[in-house]
This record gives sequence, structure tokens and C-alpha cells, in this order.
Amino acid sequence: MSKRVFSGARPTGRQHLGNYLGAIKNYVALQTEYQCIYSIVDYHALTTLRDTSELRHNTYEMVLDWLAAGIDPKGTIVYVQSHVPQVTELHLLLSMVTPLGKLTRLPTFKEKIQQQPDNVNYGLVGYPVLMAADITLYKADLIPVGADQLPHLEFTREIVRTFNHHFGDVLVEPQARLTEIPRVMGLDGVNKMSKSLNNHIELAAPPDAIRKQVMSMVTDPARKYRRDPGHPEVCNVFAMHKIYSPDDVERIEGECRNAGIGCVQCKQLYAEHLVAALAPFQERRAAWAKEPDAVWDVLADGARRATEIAAQTIAEVREAVQLP
Ligand code: ATP
Ligand code: MG
Repeated sequence: MSKRVFSGARPTGRQHLGNYLGAIKNYVALQTEYQCIYSIVDYHALTTLRDTSELRHNTYEMVLDWLAAGIDPKGTIVYVQSHVPQVTELHLLLSMVTPLGKLTRLPTFKEKIQQQPDNVNYGLVGYPVLMAADITLYKADLIPVGADQLPHLEFTREIVRTFNHHFGDVLVEPQARLTEIPRVMGLDGVNKMSKSLNNHIELAAPPDAIRKQVMSMVTDPARKYRRDPGHPEVCNVFAMHKIYSPDDVERIEGECRNAGIGCVQCKQLYAEHLVAALAPFQERRAAWAKEPDAVWDVLADGARRATEIAAQTIAEVREAVQLP
């Protein structure tokens, strides 16, 4: 059996540059070698969303982003998490071997408590257990994710070991696969780029919106005046030039250090390169958007294929746990 790849993303908005550089790039690259399964994890979105009216729309928009980025639904399975309900059963069974303290000590949980102190729900605490169920339901070996997900992945590995220790060698211990830019910073230059922090650049944003957002990016904080020398190694814009301006990056670095170029000019250049780099993606996206039925068909077909694998794993798990 060829190795399986699994990953998921929350339908909380369109995909952004951080999602692309940290995860989607690998989703696409891994398709040539592995059986890939990518999920729109709508249950996970419910841990932070109170208004669910956007869920369907966001799901559709995210699939468009994935297809435009190069995910090939002929080979790759793309499906909505809640369309394969076996995950809820595995989530419950995994929760029985999960020490509560492990969940409440996770840095991601502590962050969420701070972000939404009035909505610390049971699902939020159990988020990593559901993620472990997502992954293990498909016996996935490789998990392309951003660096923010590493604690969750380590948790999954531990829970697999515990489960297999109790019930036999049923589940597979997965490994993370990072890109070369596993943590893209937001426009604020302080936090990880996140849909929910609204510090992001959407891949599908119109060119003028991209330009405006790039111009709002925080640069080297020590560079107050135009004449001050800059420090490219701490500048978020320079980090992006390394990716989107390969031909100019050495010149920009030198001119930043000797104040030959100002931050405004530096950002204008980045904005133009980014707009150009996203143009082919945006064209492919527009082509898919003309056929919404085909997009929903991708998800229906994905759910059918995912369910075949999920049903098999659940049968093995139930047997191992000796459920009557
Ligand atoms: P939300 O704020 O709703 O949690 P998000 O922007 O964090 O949204 P997710 O759907 O949670 O996006 O993450 C999807 C994938 O993208 C995950 O693999 C995650 O690790 C990765 N990812 C998210 N943000 C970044 C980032 N700034 N840099 C690199 N990878 C990222
Ligand atoms: Mg996230």
C-alpha cells in the first residue's frame, strides 16, 4: 500500500499566504508520490465560530482555493470532515485514552482561552483529539502542516502509542512534513498569519487589495526614519522578498542595510511581485468558479472515497477495543 498523506484546514475564511507557503504547497507537491487526503474540517471550525451561517460558503471558497493551487481531485481525495461521520466515533474512543491534563497544558489551548475567554467550550479542549481522529482514521503517515500544528501532531503521535499499547497495533503514528517557511508572520509582523486574527493576505484577493495590505505591513521596528539603516533579518517584508523576488533579493538586502531603499519602496516592489505571482492562481480559480456544481461534485466524490477507508479503520478499531 502506498503511503498516505492527510491534512485539513478550517472553513473559517479563504486561504491565505500563510496557508499556502506553510501547508498547501506541500499538499500539492506530495500528490505525485502518495495517496493524499485533504479535509475541510468543519467540526473544527465550530470550536471557535458562533455564527455558522458562513460555513457552506467558506467551504466552497476553500475548495476553489485548493483546486486553483493545483490539488488534483482525480487522484486526491478532497472532502468535508462532517460528511464522514466515522470520525466522531474514533474521536470518542480516542478520548477515553487521553489524559485531560495533556490537553489543557497544550500551548494552543492556552492561546485560545486568551482569545475567547467567554467561549471555552468542551470541543475546544478536545480539538487535538478530533485532529488525532482525523489523521488516524485514514492511517496517514505524513501530515503536511504549518509549524503552529506541531504540538497537536506530537499529541497525535502520543495518543496513537497509548491506544496501540492498550488495544494492539491498529493505528499508524504519523509524521509532520513542514515546508521551508513553516511559520509565515501576519501583516502585524508579530503574530502568525491567521484567518481569525485578520492579519492575512488572501490568495484570491484582488490586486488592489493585495497592494493595500502589503503597504500596511509592519517592517523593521528599529528603522524609524528613511535615512536609518535597516535590518533585513528581522523584517517580515524582506522574508517575503526571499520568496517572491529571487532576482532582486541580494540588491534589496544591501540597499536596506545602507538605507538606499526605503520601506515604502521595498513594499511596493514586494506588492508587484506578489500580485504577479498570484495571477495564474487567480485565473485557474476564476475558471473553476464558473462551474460551482463541479466543485460540489469534487466533495461528494471525496466523501464517498474517504468513507470507504474510514469504514474499514473503524471496523478494525471496534474489533480491537472489543466492543460487543
Ligand atoms: P484560523 O485562524 O481559523 O485557525 P488559520 O489561518 O490558522 O485559521 P488553519 O485552517 O487553522 O488556518 O490552518 C490550515 C493549515 O495552514 C495548517 O496546516 C496550518 O498549520 C497552516 N498555517 C496556518 N497559518 C499559517 C502560517 N501563518 N504559516 C504557516 N502555516 C500556516
Ligand atoms: Mg489555525
